Amino acid sequence: MILTIDIEFLDQTSKEIKKLLSLLKKHNAKATFFIQTNQISKHKDLIKLISKNHEIGSHTENHHNLQKIDKKILQNELVSSKEKIKRLGIKCKGFRAPYNLLPKSFFQISKKIYEYDSSQTSFYFPFRYNYRKYPNKPYKLSEKMYEFPISNFTVFKFPALLSFLKLTYPLIILPRLDKKVFSMHDYDLKKGIFDKNASFFVRFMQKINSGKIAFYILEKLIEKQEKVISCEEFLSDLRDKEQQIQ
Ligand SMILES: [Zn+2]
Repeated sequence: MILTIDIEFLDQTSKEIKKLLSLLKKHNAKATFFIQTNQISKHKDLIKLISKNHEIGSHTENHHNLQKIDKKILQNELVSSKEKIKRLGIKCKGFRAPYNLLPKSFFQISKKIYEYDSSQTSFYFPFRYNYRKYPNKPYKLSEKMYEFPISNFTVFKFPALLSFLKLTYPLIILPRLDKKVFSMHDYDLKKGIFDKNASFFVRFMQKINSGKIAFYILEKLIEKQEKVISCEEFLSDLRDKEQQIQ
């Protein structure tokens, strides 16, 4: 399983993130943390700590809906967030868009900045999108760019999201995800509603079974996997295989 975590509320979730790091260490698991970088200046030490064992990617600077901003601001969101991570001495290869929403011009701009994107999904998200026909596993988008879509599982194409597992707990059998991408948010791990401007559905998803139960579900899910790795690790495997074929 490729584990990805969007980090948006570090002011409130730093304690939970430290607990998550211990959990990952206990299971020898690695992950990619996509950071909303306007939090970096206040949390440099924690981000450096994460980067010791895990990959850091960009989740933009300000978490705008990228479909609603102009090209210049988009370019700036993509470049400045990567630069901020680099200034901490951390490599930043990957990107994830807020709300998994991409504008048409995205790949044209991002391929010059990032090595891979992890914004696409392959499932239905109520009131937002229906991408059930999209690929379900990492693939090569173009010469230099890879895509790590957030996966689905079972014939029903359930979303590989911790928020979905929280919503359906304990009704759904935790899946083995092999080469698929699983995603979660920092706020899944803490009780409360963080994004007060979010839709009713999103606020409900944030609230249900957050905190301790979310940690429990995540640990059980990790135990089911043969291996839990970051996007970066999977990417280097993909490239190795490509070279062998050539
Ligand atoms: Zn986000």
